[in-house]
Amino acid sequence: MADKEQTTDLQEKPFKPSSPSSKLDLNGFWEYADAPQSADFIELADQYELFIDGKFTKPASGNYFDTINPATEKPIAKIAEADEKDINKAVKAARKAYENTWSKISARERGKYIFRLARLIQERAREFAIIESMDGGKPIRESRDVDIPLAAAHFFYYAGWADKLNYAFPNKEVESLGVAGQIIPWNFPLLMLAWKIAPALATGNTVVLKPAETTSLTALKFAELCRDAGLPDGVVNIVTGAGETGAAIVNHDGIDKIAFTGSTEVGKIIMKSLAGSEKKYTLELGGKGPNIIFEDAPVDQAVEGIINAIFFNQGHVCCAGSRLLVQEGIANRVIQKLRDRMETLIVGDPLDKNTDIGAINSKQQFEKINEYLEIGVNEGADIHQSSCSIPENGYFCRPTLFTNVGQSNRIVKEEIFGPVLTIQTFRTAEEGIEKANNTPYGLAGGVWTDKGSKIFKTGQKIRSGVVWSNTYNQFDPTSPFGGYKESGMGREGGLHGLEPYVKLK
Ligand code: NAP
Ligand code: MG
Repeated sequence: MADKEQTTDLQEKPFKPSSPSSKLDLNGFWEYADAPQSADFIELADQYELFIDGKFTKPASGNYFDTINPATEKPIAKIAEADEKDINKAVKAARKAYENTWSKISARERGKYIFRLARLIQERAREFAIIESMDGGKPIRESRDVDIPLAAAHFFYYAGWADKLNYAFPNKEVESLGVAGQIIPWNFPLLMLAWKIAPALATGNTVVLKPAETTSLTALKFAELCRDAGLPDGVVNIVTGAGETGAAIVNHDGIDKIAFTGSTEVGKIIMKSLAGSEKKYTLELGGKGPNIIFEDAPVDQAVEGIINAIFFNQGHVCCAGSRLLVQEGIANRVIQKLRDRMETLIVGDPLDKNTDIGAINSKQQFEKINEYLEIGVNEGADIHQSSCSIPENGYFCRPTLFTNVGQSNRIVKEEIFGPVLTIQTFRTAEEGIEKANNTPYGLAGGVWTDKGSKIFKTGQKIRSGVVWSNTYNQFDPTSPFGGYKESGMGREGGLHGLEPYVKLK
């Protein structure tokens, strides 16, 4: 297999790291008037405490850290940092709640609380969407139309299962595990919380959850909902902090199950710490999703799909279609159309309803993406970035394509977690599938073709948990989600998502 493939003869521009400029200029395509989402009614405190045993509690260390708005680089609020003492307190509260209330009340009663949480998220959906965009940088259109409605849908879905576990596992006795320790990343903060908390509560477990350091606010707002819903004290505990706080949860003896979503690197550390312990665990880790476009695919539809697969949520998507594999005969056409479409994408204020690509979640991630752009160029790949302007302050990255890359390039092998797409070509279906599977990851992929038979044949051969066909990034609470290989173990969502939280006899 040739290491380098010449995918296009288009003249490429020299690489410049994303640099700020003040004017929004859409290069004569079309201009939109600003459509800012008002954030005036949002009430945020200056400082947030830990939510333990139904109360907002100061951290034992007295330490706080700032959460930043990545679109402005300005601090939004101070967040408490939990240490081992706080985790101990949270685990004890969760244990007490498990033994005294949550495992004692009827399954139907548990379901009612979860339905109530779902309805409260719906009622306060706009507020949650705005806070998610302010704290995490994602466009309001996505947090409003994807993150928050899906989070509510997960609570509705699992609320329905609470009193039907005997139907989920026929002829088995179903027992809850006890206390679940849950650790989530920053790319879909409230949605990942929903993926974790909803099935845990529905199966009768109590929870200690840590959101990511850069996106704690919606989890803390969710704590307010738990209080408003009258959820018994200690059933849900939210402990904020950095990696050490997560490690303290993983290593606490009073925890029966760990559910982690995050990088493969941290997933491996967690797996090592849990080896030999009795704790059950599920790990949802990184990805490097192949998106395969066959010559008979509807090209315009596929181009929209490619854009959605990699630029959705700034490419901060574990299942992003970050490796485009396009059949040779249509490669130049697809690349030209992609470049044209990229020029129309609006990068900027996450709170503007026209924005397609918001802010990169943190300075650290922004630097990591820029580092990968340099690595790509130094490896000899051809870079193409959209020529759009980006705001002066904040962490913004232009949508980027790399052509002239091969399997051995780091930008093809490693997860970048940003709006950066690599493009390779293939001649036969076998070659496309081989390239798609040539990765340690296996979370998700896409296939675009006019032929149903090709969808099934290729879909079955791609070694990943999800394969979308003629679409990308579709989620539903009823569908299981999870990885092959280094993308993790266990499934979340659907009926499969109940199993990691129960003992079956
Ligand atoms: P990360 O660095 O692995 O962090 C994930 C979570 O673990 C955060 O809450 C983090 O805290 C915490 N953490 C860090 N070190 C820890 C340790 N030693 N022990 C326990 N917890 C620890 O990942 P990230 O950068 O936040 O998220 C991006 C990654 O998540 C990507 O690789 C992406 O593919 C993956 N992801 C996977 C899925 C999936 O379903 N498979 C979904 C979304 C994201 P701090 O943030 O405070 O450091
Ligand atoms: Mg933030």
